[in-house]
Amino acid sequence: MSQVRVRFAPSPTGFFHIGSARTALFNWLYAKHTGGVFVLRIEDTDQARNTDEYLELIYQSLSWLGLKWDEGPKVGGNYGPYLQSQRAGIYKEYLEKLKATGRTYEKDGAIYFKLLGERHEVYDEHRKKTVTKVKNAPAVIDDQIRGRVERVEDEDFVIVRSDGNPVFHFVNVVDDITMNITHVIRGEDHLSNTSKHVELFKAFGAPVPSYAHIPLILKQVGPGKMSKRDQGALIEDYKKRGYIPEAIVNFLCLLGWNPGDNREKMPIEDIIKLFDLPGINQSNARFDDKKLAHMNLAYLLELPQDSFLSLATTILTRANATDALLANPDYFKAVMLLSQPKIKSAEELPKYTAYFFTEDYIHVPEVKAKVMTKGDPKARLTELIEVLSQSDFTNDIAMEESIKALAAKNNLGFGDYQAVARYAVSGTNVGPSLTAMFRILGRDKVLNRMQKTLDS
Ligand code: GLU
Repeated sequence: MSQVRVRFAPSPTGFFHIGSARTALFNWLYAKHTGGVFVLRIEDTDQARNTDEYLELIYQSLSWLGLKWDEGPKVGGNYGPYLQSQRAGIYKEYLEKLKATGRTYEKDGAIYFKLLGERHEVYDEHRKKTVTKVKNAPAVIDDQIRGRVERVEDEDFVIVRSDGNPVFHFVNVVDDITMNITHVIRGEDHLSNTSKHVELFKAFGAPVPSYAHIPLILKQVGPGKMSKRDQGALIEDYKKRGYIPEAIVNFLCLLGWNPGDNREKMPIEDIIKLFDLPGINQSNARFDDKKLAHMNLAYLLELPQDSFLSLATTILTRANATDALLANPDYFKAVMLLSQPKIKSAEELPKYTAYFFTEDYIHVPEVKAKVMTKGDPKARLTELIEVLSQSDFTNDIAMEESIKALAAKNNLGFGDYQAVARYAVSGTNVGPSLTAMFRILGRDKVLNRMQKTLDS
């Protein structure tokens, strides 16, 4: 069989969203799986709705997700140009070819594609006019996901509008022919167009590509397809929030496909090996932001220190915490690495680590109400100050042992001391290991903060 050539064909008319990313990914995976070629083609014929900003976002988002295209804008290839707006000459040439076969005619300034078959006029109640119906055999689509699908085209359709612009169906098919596309993998919303496309391929005497229509992504709750306006739909947002692109890719793979066992977090190399079109589910996949957050956490935990620190730097810089970062890089590093296993997503870092970088940190009133009313919290703080002024702040275990000994002496638990200590030092009741936090903050800060709480 000849080399597989697939294409991702987005239109730059809106933000790059989860659905587009998944379509691109499934094309990319299939190309990798088969040793084929992944083409990026920009369908930018809708001049009123295209913007350069959206176009740039397509390039950036694909690159960020690691979906490198083998042919297309910026990288070139033998079948360019790869922007439809630059292919007018090719469309003209193909229109002439079709005209020469007698399969076109002009009506009211537009150019129609003429179906083969017996014709008769009928009155269409819905459109309130007489239309010409064609007795045409159904187009058969052997869809690799949907199975055999038959659809009849029974009316001629416009291929060039009266303003001279060719329509989507025409340019889409001409491009797939001239770019030698062997497999069309796209959203199920295009299944209803496919019979028109098959008719055009045949009229051009071109081989019909193999089709795979991917089921929809349903919105998180309720019926209906996820749209660009739904919460969590935009790839750009995840990038801003410090999500890890490999985690998003892994999550997207599982939206409609699975490896056949229960594995979820999987190296992309393994997915490439196992991925195939018939393995894609026929049923719609429901978006689940908790699952995505969970996947992100799994990747975050395994992120190498250097990558994590550069991610943290980006996020903290955006949160205007650059002073903290520049003042003491070793301290910054220690705080971030202490937090890495504790957070679900890098976006939590500014808030999670705030008290490491300022004495003016927030004291959560609910935590105060809970912690500073039980027993005699001030007595416990006084005892802690006494014990900790003798402790070795480089040794987490020793600090913990001395707090445990203090608790035991007073018939209390470690938790009773931990709660007041944590509240005094960080203003909250969540955080990293208490003594690791002490070690990184250092004796002076820890004791000062406890004293301040005592005096307040
Ligand atoms: N430009 C179309 C879209 O944005 C792609 C059509 C196709 O993949 O054939 O949905």
